Amino acid sequence: IDGTKIESKANKYTFVWRKTVERNRTRLMDKIRILLEQVDEAIVQENSIKDTSVEFTPCMLSDIVDELKEALERQPATKDKEEKKALRKKKKQVRELEGYRDKLIEYDNHLDTLGERNSYSKTDPGATFMRMKEDAMKNGQTKPGYNLQIGTENQFITDFRLFPNPTDTLTLIPFFHSFQYRYNRLPNICVADSGYGSEENYRFMQENGIEAFIKYNYFHKEQRPRYTPNPFHAESLHYNAQEDYYVCPMGQHMNRIGTKRDKTASGYITESARYKAKRCEGCPLRGSCFKARGNRIIEVNHRLNQYKRQARERLLSEEGIKHRGRRCIEPEAVFGQMKYNMAYRRFRHVGEDKVTMDFAFFAIAFNIKKMCAKLIKEGKGLITVAKYMFMGLFITRYNWNIATCCQMHEEKAA
Ligand code: SF4
Repeated sequence: IDGTKIESKANKYTFVWRKTVERNRTRLMDKIRILLEQVDEAIVQENSIKDTSVEFTPCMLSDIVDELKEALERQPATKDKEEKKALRKKKKQVRELEGYRDKLIEYDNHLDTLGERNSYSKTDPGATFMRMKEDAMKNGQTKPGYNLQIGTENQFITDFRLFPNPTDTLTLIPFFHSFQYRYNRLPNICVADSGYGSEENYRFMQENGIEAFIKYNYFHKEQRPRYTPNPFHAESLHYNAQEDYYVCPMGQHMNRIGTKRDKTASGYITESARYKAKRCEGCPLRGSCFKARGNRIIEVNHRLNQYKRQARERLLSEEGIKHRGRRCIEPEAVFGQMKYNMAYRRFRHVGEDKVTMDFAFFAIAFNIKKMCAKLIKEGKGLITVAKYMFMGLFITRYNWNIATCCQMHEEKAA
């Protein structure tokens, strides 16, 4: 499994940023509050409006506008110049309030489209702004795009899915669900790079019987011949599992003082045990050991460490070395052929459904091309190649139609 980012068809200047929308929405709320304070209090009636905690909704504003209009219509006709001026001012304020209501609807729609994301493109609301590898200007500019995840076997695309989030960590479990939906089973083995090595992913694979050949962030560093671990790092300290304490470089016991819980972006709760040294004052190693005040506290995620140990064992085994060697010629080779040989770097449609269909056809064509090349290499005749090609086309189309199309329509209907 691996991922790459593919640019959307949308222009790079069609962005909507969550932070900007939220900031402007807060400013708009203040403007509405000020305007309502200016409007005749007898008409507006509420004192609660002055309360800054009141969160206006478009419905609320529509009701206020209707009420104000009704009140203005009820006012007797006047010939007094001053009163006429005041009436004109009130009408203007009502129009202003209507404008604010429309703006509020617009901001709420933006937030709805954004969902969990931080940005989207106005032309292609399914696309999220992310940094691309192909950065012609070399200024790290963000462009609208999709994070394409693919699974390959012998360089055949076995599954794919598009994600709005640019990091790979959160895409693995949904990708497995998509695989299960398509094939009615989970893979037995998964090989991926260190971008996927999180506690949540390791746990999911262990619980579902998937053998994980997935690196963690320091795996490469550890494998260097000249690598010497830092003796002050929590991972280098001696741990007594029976009595649950660490021994610091000075030989002092670090006893457990509690547990720290963190929530990841996907809602997964990680637990880290906290250990504290008894007395660090006057320690000759203090300068190299830690910089904070008081006694040293370390946080250790035992479960993650356990998964890392298992991953290390697997990756260094004979099978692990074989898989690691193949990883760079599996999805990477497919991406290379796709992006550089076939120039498929940008989608030609807008909208998630259409883009999914766009890539599905590409994957079908890619697999057929691969199969033909393989058959020709094996010395099969042209008729056999054509036969296999049509069979492949039929099976892939059938599978894709049944699985993906139904899924898309079900989602739409839901
Ligand atoms: S500073 Fe504290 S934790 Fe670090 S070696 Fe000295 S006594 Fe141990």
